[in-house]
Amino acid sequence: MTLQGKVRAAFKAAFGAPPAFIVRAPGRVNLIGEHTDYNDGFVFPMAIDRAAWIALRPRNDKRVLALSLDMDDRREYKLDDLRRPRQNQWIDYLIGVAWALQERGYTLRGWEGVVAGDVPIGSGLSSSAALELAAARAFHAVSGFQWDAAAIALACQAAENNWLGVNCGIMDQMISAAGVKERALLIDCRSLETDSAPLPPGTAVVILDTDTRRGLVDSAYNERRAQCEAAARHFGVSALRDIDLPTFERRASELDSLTRSRARHVITENARTLRARDAMDAGDADSLGQLMIESHISLRDDFAVSSPALDAIVDCANADGACYGARMTGAGFGGCAVALVDAAEAAGFVERVTACYTAATGIQPALYITRASAGAEMVHP
Ligand code: ADP
Ligand code: MG
Repeated sequence: MTLQGKVRAAFKAAFGAPPAFIVRAPGRVNLIGEHTDYNDGFVFPMAIDRAAWIALRPRNDKRVLALSLDMDDRREYKLDDLRRPRQNQWIDYLIGVAWALQERGYTLRGWEGVVAGDVPIGSGLSSSAALELAAARAFHAVSGFQWDAAAIALACQAAENNWLGVNCGIMDQMISAAGVKERALLIDCRSLETDSAPLPPGTAVVILDTDTRRGLVDSAYNERRAQCEAAARHFGVSALRDIDLPTFERRASELDSLTRSRARHVITENARTLRARDAMDAGDADSLGQLMIESHISLRDDFAVSSPALDAIVDCANADGACYGARMTGAGFGGCAVALVDAAEAAGFVERVTACYTAATGIQPALYITRASAGAEMVHP
């Protein structure tokens, strides 16, 4: 059964009638533009065909009553009495979104419903943003406020930052809110302007989960951010986004070698991300793949956020004849890589790269062939 069918059936079983609405919001994978978001730069993610789903109906009071099929849990809260989380549980994402929307002046109505998802949790595909945007869509369905993707994404990011206490940029919420079927979304993280571009014809995107995670990501992330800020300060700009490649090359020797490497990654990555849009518009899979390969090398050597497992899976992918290009994706140090492959060869690619990576590391990876899906939406119940 599809997840849509599953939440519909579970709703009927729990509430004795079909749902009034079904909403979904996708997870995401970033094709290119890594560690550029907090430098006011460009990112180029796509929404994936894995999502959080909610089947629901409105209530005539200020209560939200939600069942999680994945957590096998039933919780409720009152919109006029929101309690801050002690430790983050799944319901706190639904509370946090209500908090952030109400903070921004949206008037919310209560609802009751069933939640389920197939974005793998904690593997870097942003199951949290999917859940937040699905919750926002659920409130939208029953409350009828205006849906502005950027405004809603900002509210959901605020929920994650200030209610859940999790540091994240705007990319995850923005792509889950505004994704476009069969297309990737170029996001300007300074203005939040978006521009979609088609994936090259005949290609498929494969997510390669190394099944490795590393604990020290937060401190390394904060260190990189500080290094980028130092470089921007040196150049007298508010963010590295404002330094173009010729300017950087002219003045690079003014920086110490570590700061220079970090800045070089961000500045070249922004340029690659904009070139990726041209490659997509031209339907040029070879060029897009090459940019992804260069992105990985820059993240590995200049930004130093790859890991042996990520390098191993990217090397396996890039050595495969079906692959146009592969790179690590997300913050790094573990988690997932992403590959652009020949669609007709995608199944064989998955088999060969799984074998190659297992032989190199002894670890069983999880590979997903994925399609670009639409962002948060209401579907026919
Ligand atoms: P990710 O990298 O997948 O975003 P996070 O740690 O940021 O990982 O968020 C995962 C958390 O989001 C889970 O622990 C859970 O609280 C919540 N969550 C995500 N998907 C679901 C789901 N389908 N059902 C219930 N809770 C979910
Ligand atoms: Mg998350």
